[in-house]
Amino acid sequence: MKDPFNAPVVILGAGQAGAAAAMELRKLGHVGAITLVGEERQLPYERPPLSKEALLRPDETRVLIREARHYSDIRVDLRLGVRAVEIAAVSRRVWLSDDTWLEYDFLILATGARARRLPMLDALGDRVHRLRTMEDATRLRSQLERGARAVVVGAGVIGLELASSLVELGLTVEVVDPASRVMSRNAPEVVSRLLHDAHVRRGVRFHLGTSVESACRLASGIRLVMSDGVALEGDLVIYGVGAVVDDGLLRTAGVDLLNGALMVDEHCQTSVPGILAAGDVTVCVDGRGVPRRMETWENANTQAIIAARTLLGLDSDPPQPPWFWTDQCGMNIQFAGDMAASDWIRRGDPLASNFMFWGLREGLVTAAVTVNWGREMRSAKLLIAKGISVPSHVLADPLLNLRQLAKSGAFDARADVQPVPSAPI
Ligand code: FAD
Ligand code: NAP
Repeated sequence: MKDPFNAPVVILGAGQAGAAAAMELRKLGHVGAITLVGEERQLPYERPPLSKEALLRPDETRVLIREARHYSDIRVDLRLGVRAVEIAAVSRRVWLSDDTWLEYDFLILATGARARRLPMLDALGDRVHRLRTMEDATRLRSQLERGARAVVVGAGVIGLELASSLVELGLTVEVVDPASRVMSRNAPEVVSRLLHDAHVRRGVRFHLGTSVESACRLASGIRLVMSDGVALEGDLVIYGVGAVVDDGLLRTAGVDLLNGALMVDEHCQTSVPGILAAGDVTVCVDGRGVPRRMETWENANTQAIIAARTLLGLDSDPPQPPWFWTDQCGMNIQFAGDMAASDWIRRGDPLASNFMFWGLREGLVTAAVTVNWGREMRSAKLLIAKGISVPSHVLADPLLNLRQLAKSGAFDARADVQPVPSAPI
């Protein structure tokens, strides 16, 4: 095996994690060949704008991670519009859909995830949409007419961000989800309530605790009949019901999978020597032994950096609390830490322009959600990472100097910790 700094690297998936891994390898001094293979024809791009500003202001929105020139400048060989179809891990080769193959010393799998499909809706033709790719966004945009009726299936992050954008574009919006609250997978109940009410104030109608039982095309649009008997009609239907990993390619490599995603350790190593992975394709067991898939922009970038460092034999910084954001109804909401916290405390007035929530588990600060208060997030993350116990009246104080508290670590977890009662929200 060559010196890793000279070794040929193939990266599969030219998305957020794949592009970040290639750039990080060069930044760290890797000089060998790097080939970045992507099934989509576009240069690597950011997905977060697709449900937000790229729908609202397409002409002003930049989505490319880097211009084409950058990849040639750093000698990354981009192979776009080509799909990897098989990995022979023993001979360290990858076969591509154009009947060529690549040899590698190290392989980074960054093939992401795809939108979960609902065949019953797909069967209804071109007025039904999903949103994962730039192509999906372009097709959707072409049908967004002021006054049109949209039915959004799924009240997760995509569903809610879309509802927000569509209302802004003058469509009427109804949202359906079998869960009893919105964003139930990744937001605490207090935030679900906040989002629900904000959307309702903007005219969105929710149908929660019910699912689509049947669907058909009418001359006037698409008709969905729900399990509670309610019928909805829309000019277009958009669904966002989760992301799934395409495991066909992964199986050819013989890497260990868990619940259909690719198992990695904290160094982004898979079970097969020479193969690392980063981004939405991965599942990693967290500090409490729970397998977690983190389908976020930050995780794609962070794991890409870790994978690049591991490949080169370099250590990585200790993990930080997970973080992501969403933009809806004019609010920028940022989430850090474990959203399964048992108690939530509010800091600041929800009628004020910015406020936040703290999540606690056994008296320790384990999570934070800021609303239009991103400035506090850095310190909040530090507090979470330190595992500090802070009395609830201190956490609730809007005038608290959080930066100072996070830096000083005045409330030390090793001190005699008293359970913190939850303040009313
Ligand atoms: P991807 O970005 O999906 O890239 C994987 C790439 O691999 C794709 O281009 C795919 O075509 C390619 N590929 C797959 N299989 C093969 C193969 N066999 N051969 C070659 N190429 C292949 N996160 C946030 O934190 N905040 C947000 O506000 C936010 N908004 C989002 C909005 C939308 C509409 C979407 C879809 C996602 C959003 N996310 C957001 C999530 C974030 O974009 C993803 O977590 C991130 O893109 C994951 O990066 P990735 O590189 O792992 O996967
Ligand atoms: P998601 O956040 O997992 O939400 C999917 C929602 O759809 C869940 O509430 C789910 O309910 C519901 N659902 C499942 N099956 C359904 C059905 N048959 N009918 C109606 N609803 C159904 O996934 P997503 O919103 O589709 O997003 C997809 C991916 O994009 C994820 O990786 C997400 O992280 C990423 N994304 C992130 C952001 C962000 O971070 N700001 C923004 C957009 C997209 P159950 O939980 O009960 O199954």
